[in-house]
Amino acid sequence: MASTPDKIDLSAGISLERFSIGIGDRFGREGVAQLAALEAARRDGIAVTPVWNKSNREHALIGTRPEDTRRAADAAVRDAGWRHPYRLDADHVGLASVEKFLDACDFFTLDVADFIGRPAPAEAAQALVERVQRLFGARQQLPGSDQILDLTPACVQAAAATYAAAAAEAGRIYRRIVAHRGPDGFVVEVSTDEADAPQTPAELLVILTALAAEGIPVRTIAPRFRGRFNKGVDYVGDPQAFKREFEADVAVLALAKATLGLPSDLKLSVHSGSDKFSIYGPIRDVLVKTGAGLHLKTAGTTWLEEVVGLALSGGEGLAFVKEIWGLALDRREELAKPYATVIDIDPARLPSAAEVSGWDGPRFAAALRHDPACPHFNPHLRQLLHVAFRLAAEAGARYLALLDANRAIVAHEVTINLLDRHIRRIFPAC
Ligand SMILES: [Zn+2]
Repeated sequence: MASTPDKIDLSAGISLERFSIGIGDRFGREGVAQLAALEAARRDGIAVTPVWNKSNREHALIGTRPEDTRRAADAAVRDAGWRHPYRLDADHVGLASVEKFLDACDFFTLDVADFIGRPAPAEAAQALVERVQRLFGARQQLPGSDQILDLTPACVQAAAATYAAAAAEAGRIYRRIVAHRGPDGFVVEVSTDEADAPQTPAELLVILTALAAEGIPVRTIAPRFRGRFNKGVDYVGDPQAFKREFEADVAVLALAKATLGLPSDLKLSVHSGSDKFSIYGPIRDVLVKTGAGLHLKTAGTTWLEEVVGLALSGGEGLAFVKEIWGLALDRREELAKPYATVIDIDPARLPSAAEVSGWDGPRFAAALRHDPACPHFNPHLRQLLHVAFRLAAEAGARYLALLDANRAIVAHEVTINLLDRHIRRIFPAC
């Protein structure tokens, strides 16, 4: 690393539009309904590139492969007549899991959170410290902001010791993808959002400096932000403190692009886990003020809209979702286990199977649908159903047949959820 020039050619890869959204579609049936939301947004001047994301973990739990997502996305694009860019994300891959995504995907999220804090060769960490100090000094006034980054030697040394091994691992995964696809055929994201502790803006600058030195043309970066990002429910934390951190991170990216030669379309990726409504406004304000881009990665909450649609359809659909609820209660611990760090379910707040059996479709939908103003909304039920998608996977053809039989009502729920609760609230018109 010591011999690497400060600015190296980082122009490889595919660029993204200013705004993009990671859309989960666990069962691969909702692409047309999702694209209908994005098409409606474009008519309002909000241009957002869809990126289908499905992690290795989700594929394993459902029993699908990346080729299945590729087929579903391509078919949806064809059937919807979508004429704009779209991508397929190998979400949260490492060196061991990237192989099966190499052919199907053109967006790779290099997850190096597990390498944070691992020892790196002393020369590599030292070279990173020297580079940061040479390029940025001991204090950096953030462009367009009143915030100042503390880059004193002790801080930079601690950050380099923590993140140098993670950046080196990102380099190894990146080069594996290049060896298979060539340098120009994909978008690179680097994620550290599943780390144990949030990254400060100063640490983000150190990480970007290390990624540039590795020659990675990173286009989106997903730090761990302050606060809790539980799956499918709202942000837990102080939205104003989040806004200040997000704004500082946007400024750090501007500084990194200008100084390190990283791609001009580099932007933050927020791995939201879906539905972080209380920070959508603050994020939107920063996007409007700074002109920055954003990748919003959502979880597979499209599956929950399928459940809402089946509940509202009554009859067999409603009977099926009540059956799923009974099973979810019985198998709660097993279903929640892989998601233990990103859900907070209070078992005492879960309605019993007997209670739910008396509900009609609108009552079930009201408990599940994420409308915090609705007195029937129950975030505990919502989180448990979110992780219960395996039960629908186990029901297999029966579940898919119900989706087909109730296509119009399910599609409507998927489209309005994505458009009205997410896209219109977080992305400004260009
Ligand atoms: Zn993530």
